[in-house]
Amino acid sequence: MENTNEMKIFFDSRPVNEGLARVAVAAFCTQLNPTLEEVADLKTAVSEAVTNCIIHGYEGEIHKIEVACRLQGRELFVDVTDEGVGIPDVEKAMEPMFTTKPEKDRSGMGFTFMEAFMDEVSVESQVGKGTTVHMKKIIRR
Ligand code: ATP
Ligand code: MG
Repeated sequence: MENTNEMKIFFDSRPVNEGLARVAVAAFCTQLNPTLEEVADLKTAVSEAVTNCIIHGYEGEIHKIEVACRLQGRELFVDVTDEGVGIPDVEKAMEPMFTTKPEKDRSGMGFTFMEAFMDEVSVESQVGKGTTVHMKKIIRR
């Protein structure tokens, strides 16, 4: 298909790789000449999603995380997937300030930031199977 481009990265759920993921996605989208603000928004959203896989999905254990990016015209789709514990109630999990780890200084704002900085966010999750966060951002320039 014309006007499309794809990239996928697969990495260990180590905190150091959060930086890798967000830089990789930012680098991938530079072909659309995004503004600095658009890049910053994208990096924040990717960081939040990947951090959630590390902390909640795998609870600190080391397993694989996949970040898949697809460009279609000026739309960038980013999917972040873990095969961790899953989310029993996605609607509840996405509420501002909802966290299952208040003792770990989590503020429960990750999904709220993703929704604020991206044009669309949806979550698919199955308990015991894992979670995929689907995000879309239109790069307007
Ligand atoms: P913060 O992101 O502000 O540090 P948080 O991670 O708890 O806090 P959110 O990112 O909004 O807040 O996530 C809300 C809740 O959704 C989490 O507390 C967790 O219970 C659940 N959750 C989010 N991502 C995942 C995931 N990948 N796997 C399992 N549970 C998740
Ligand atoms: Mg979070």
